[in-house]
Amino acid sequence: MSSEREALKETAREFTRREVTPYLQDWEDAGEVPRDLHGRAAKQGLLGVSFPVDVGGEGGDLLDTIAVMEGMFEEGASSGLMAALFTSGIALPHLAASRNAELVDRFVRPTLAGELVGSLAVTEPGGGSDVANLRTTARREGDEYVVTGTKTFITSGVRADFVTTAVRTGGPGHGGISLLVVEKGAPGFTVDRVLSKTGWHCSDTAELGYAGVRVPAANLVGAENTGFAQIAEQFVVERIALAVHGYGIAGRSLALTAAYCRGRETFGTALIANQVVRHRLVEMRRQVEVARTYVHEVARRHVAGENVVAEACLAKQTAVEAAAHVCDQAVQLHGGTGYLRGTEVERHYRDARILPIGGGATEVLTDLTARLLGYTT
Ligand SMILES: Cc1cc2nc3c(=O)[nH]c(=O)nc-3n(C[C@H](O)[C@H](O)[C@H](O)COP(=O)(O)OP(=O)(O)OC[C@H]3O[C@@H](n4cnc5c(N)ncnc54)[C@H](O)[C@@H]3O)c2cc1C
Repeated sequence: MSSEREALKETAREFTRREVTPYLQDWEDAGEVPRDLHGRAAKQGLLGVSFPVDVGGEGGDLLDTIAVMEGMFEEGASSGLMAALFTSGIALPHLAASRNAELVDRFVRPTLAGELVGSLAVTEPGGGSDVANLRTTARREGDEYVVTGTKTFITSGVRADFVTTAVRTGGPGHGGISLLVVEKGAPGFTVDRVLSKTGWHCSDTAELGYAGVRVPAANLVGAENTGFAQIAEQFVVERIALAVHGYGIAGRSLALTAAYCRGRETFGTALIANQVVRHRLVEMRRQVEVARTYVHEVARRHVAGENVVAEACLAKQTAVEAAAHVCDQAVQLHGGTGYLRGTEVERHYRDARILPIGGGATEVLTDLTARLLGYTT
């Protein structure tokens, strides 16, 4: 790793020790992170990493984003915290890529400065996996679109100042989808439900209602009916990021468990003195190392410009399976303590459960991978 990237990672570690871990349980209990955390992360140069400087970002690439995430996970940031703090990573890329100066000035710059919170709304109550069949409509009327529909499971949707919303502007299927920025306060745009979840407690999740919301046509992102392609283009980065969540919380759970096994005594000796325990720690380590190494490789190839759509799916699956196993074993080796609210490994265990569902369910990504690799009839 370059010395610059190592310095960025150290900044992320230091930020997490100072600004995140002392307060994380309070935010878990409150169901959201404070808005000013975004400003503090921006001031530290963390929020805009991998966004171009000319849209208000810090520059750098996906490997820098990974360094920030790894540094934060190493110090105890949770998967939910990262989802809530870095929702900009899914809400903004399409706007930044559109090079639309007005959208960049109104939404991208202030969000990367930590002044606004944005969300991405694709999923609907009728289904999330089948993006091409989404039903929320946007009908053009003069200089406006009229948006009608419902979105659900939207990360940071309770707090969001604006929501990059996938809408149907054209005919059926993927060719009729556009992206439209809908702003808080627009008449008819409502947070209908605050969703309570198994994990990711500090990450607010909303069901959003659009009842004939009038949205300026200037809020269209890219060309009309190109929304599906824009969403699909960003999926690779989202899947790699969720893979980092997977091995990130797994690696942290392993570190906590190894320390616990040194200190905890049963039958007159330290837990780690049992060969079966040591071997279990080694297996946990193996899964973390394999996931980290493969995810790095796929990210490096993505940054080099290679098409890694299939590999990003494999990387996500490898890392989320590692998280499922390692976080489960971390709870097991902590015994009853591992089952208590407030014990860190318990939080990671619950947070891990969303990873094979969000950003593309494992079955859906596996099917996509089969098609991309030519395993078809
Ligand atoms: C905490 C959280 C945060 C989220 N954040 C966001 C967000 O910010 N923005 C957003 O737009 N969405 C968000 N989502 C939605 C997420 O992307 C969807 O939950 C996911 O895409 C799956 O969609 P679904 O829940 O409708 O499941 P469905 O599409 O109904 O699928 C249900 C299950 O069926 C299986 N399955 C589906 N299709 C197939 C198939 N073809 N073959 C075999 N099995 C299949 C899978 O196991 C899948 O989990 C979030 C979800 C959660 C829980």
